[in-house]
Amino acid sequence: MNLSLNFVMNAQALGWSDVLGLMLAAALLQVPVPLRAAADETGAKVVPKPGVDSSNPFYTGNREPLLASPLIKLPIGSITPKGWLRHQLELEARGMTGHLQEISKWCKFDGNAWSDPRGEGHSGWEELPYWLKGYGDLGYVLGDQEIIKGARKWIEGVLASQQADGWFGPRANKTGLEGKPDLWPHMVMCNVLESFYEFTGDERVLPFLTKYFKWLNTRPSDNFGAGYWPKIRFGDNIESIYWLYDRTGEPWLLELAKRIHEHMQDWTTGVHDWHNVNLSQGFREPGVYYQQAREDRFLRAAENNYQTIMGLYGQFPGGGFAGDENCRPGYTDPRQGFETCGMVEFMHSFEMLMKISGNPLWADRCEDIAVNSLPASLTPDLKGLHYLTCANQVQLDQGNKAPEIQNGGTMFSYSPFERYRCCQHNVSHGWPYYAEELWLATADRGLCASLYAASEVSAKVGTGASVKIVEETDYPFGDAVTLKITAVQPVRFPLYLRIPRWCTDASVKINGAAVPCEPKPLAYVVLEQEWKDGDTVDLRLPMDVRVQKWEKNQNAVSVSLGVLTFSLKIGERWQRCGGTDAWPEMEVFPTTPWNYGLVLNGENPAKAFEVVKRGGEPLPAQPFTPATAPIELRVPAKQIPAWKLDSLGLVGKLQPSPVKSDQPTETVTLIPMGAARLRITSFPVIGEGPDAHAWTAPKPLPVSASHCNESDTLEALMNVKQPKSSNDQSIPRFTWWDHRGTAEWAEYHFDKPRKVSAVEVYWFDDTGSGSCRVPQSWRVLCKQGQDWKPAQGASGYETKVNRYNRTTFAPVETLGLRIEAQLRPQFSGGILSLKVIE
Ligand SMILES: [Zn+2]
Repeated sequence: MNLSLNFVMNAQALGWSDVLGLMLAAALLQVPVPLRAAADETGAKVVPKPGVDSSNPFYTGNREPLLASPLIKLPIGSITPKGWLRHQLELEARGMTGHLQEISKWCKFDGNAWSDPRGEGHSGWEELPYWLKGYGDLGYVLGDQEIIKGARKWIEGVLASQQADGWFGPRANKTGLEGKPDLWPHMVMCNVLESFYEFTGDERVLPFLTKYFKWLNTRPSDNFGAGYWPKIRFGDNIESIYWLYDRTGEPWLLELAKRIHEHMQDWTTGVHDWHNVNLSQGFREPGVYYQQAREDRFLRAAENNYQTIMGLYGQFPGGGFAGDENCRPGYTDPRQGFETCGMVEFMHSFEMLMKISGNPLWADRCEDIAVNSLPASLTPDLKGLHYLTCANQVQLDQGNKAPEIQNGGTMFSYSPFERYRCCQHNVSHGWPYYAEELWLATADRGLCASLYAASEVSAKVGTGASVKIVEETDYPFGDAVTLKITAVQPVRFPLYLRIPRWCTDASVKINGAAVPCEPKPLAYVVLEQEWKDGDTVDLRLPMDVRVQKWEKNQNAVSVSLGVLTFSLKIGERWQRCGGTDAWPEMEVFPTTPWNYGLVLNGENPAKAFEVVKRGGEPLPAQPFTPATAPIELRVPAKQIPAWKLDSLGLVGKLQPSPVKSDQPTETVTLIPMGAARLRITSFPVIGEGPDAHAWTAPKPLPVSASHCNESDTLEALMNVKQPKSSNDQSIPRFTWWDHRGTAEWAEYHFDKPRKVSAVEVYWFDDTGSGSCRVPQSWRVLCKQGQDWKPAQGASGYETKVNRYNRTTFAPVETLGLRIEAQLRPQFSGGILSLKVIE
């Protein structure tokens, strides 16, 4: 049975795609047979996942017929985070999330549709529940009475708002989607109430949710859960329904969960929607429903969805994928962004699947995003965030990056304000939920150290005795984890220690004596014995430098040490660009060169790196800054002069490695990715042999225009896609939006004179959904010397929709063509495709 895990170990020597495939194999291994079943005198063994043969009577796990979970969440308040994680939470409380009621118009209590018992007022959509979901848990996890009180005020409003039929909260949502209910914001509010119940045990919550789900169950099956967001994210309700069922046992709840599964977006047959946040929360749905369906194929479907997303769009480090806002074919470079909402939803999904499956890979994936990407999405004081975080991102200015980044407008600079509306509220649950998952109960009445961070946990174990375990560690910046046990009386229970996938050489001591076991990556060491007050467990998770090659992204490489991924340390110049003194908006510009390729010649590229640790000092409270980063790497590198920012201020796309460079070799410093607000994380590799490529400066586009809407692209003028109609929304387009009724132009430039005799224009016209129309009139001009002259003998200028409009003219040698268009009064216009004919 240990075959598959041994494969994963050996896979260290293989390419990344092989590793992914083998991880999938390990993930699919659902047989809970111990790798090393024979218990020695210490009771130590290594297992691929915790078993479900017994049940834990102390904590609410799944009730039959739902499948028993190998790992069970402890009630909020059982775990006290410490160290750097506590500091993130404290900064969050002092920063944007703690003060969002002062900053966000959606979080104004007075007149809010979520605080009003009649459900009337403003701001009745997702923003308030998004924020409250993390804000409440932030208070519970920190024991911060002011926040707990602040959250309760809102929750009392929600609890007071339930109607006789079970609906609660904003009345407008009840008919919000063409007369049908918009169920999405309520899905988030259910999470708020679950946490509130777990922390307070408030008796009103279970009947309240029961009544709401009874209402939901009365909805007719046609259009059940209709609407774009509800249909894709309806799985969030399935999870809440199981949570409620586990506490009340009412069988109709499972019927309702089944109905939801059958009516929502089908995530069991692959990925059918490419919005980054939908992916981050939707992909897991079959894994959640697996608990009811009791067939492994559902759990496999969640893994398959993850593999599909990451295989296509997650080909760079940091644990995220290229979804800025949607994933788009052709936009997979590490300069593409991942939305902050996507990060925290992905983490939440991983936390869920970890408990459902017991597969330690999910905890690895959660740590990957949490320590590498999430800190970088926020300012070091957690007073602002940005919408998009990229593995390669060297300048955080306010400028528009569309169409190279799908979202137009400001996406990179930091702000506490509504320009990042959804993330501004939703980021709140990232760190609190993470802190709640550090320790989990096991089905066999033990405890599992799931995500490593300094903390303290109090829980019931064994025959029901309470124990406290203090976890001391600098993880992920240090490889030592010390667990100190406090128990009134000796108590026997199993203690599970997760071994991450990158750790091939873990070791364990109990009270200073080595435990004879051979921990494998992606497994658990289980220490089952009678634990006494003062017992100490020392776990070592040695971290080696690992170089990973990203074949699908030009053979670039990234480097990690343990779970930490490293980025080039780039000098930062922070510049205020808006906001107030208390809540500034900030741009960040590089002050040192960033266009380096790494010099890694040799069989063992990891050998090129020198690891430099801060010696002898306690871990800084906020380790995620360039100045306080606890670990640095040094490595030889050469600059690649032709690798530059593009015209949008984006780092140039990667080109194939190895790359030639005639620059001198320097030693550069890398810092943890989470500490690098500016970063190169996917590096080109410098080479000298015949296979080395010269880096070519990208050519400027041969097209320009009087104006181009920031979400559209001049490239549409280059006849890249065949339109299906004038209102084809599926292809890139060029528009003069939001110029209306004006005279505009668009030009095509030639390198050398070309003979041209006709032009075909496919006009964009979104009658019915937008304000672009075919123009009132147009004409073609040709470039003669420095002058633009009307084409001679033009056959006519038609403005028909749904086809090319061709005009022929006297053949002319020209350096360029210009389309001049007079837009219709009050309307804008655009072009889907332009053909220049010899
Ligand atoms: Zn967002």
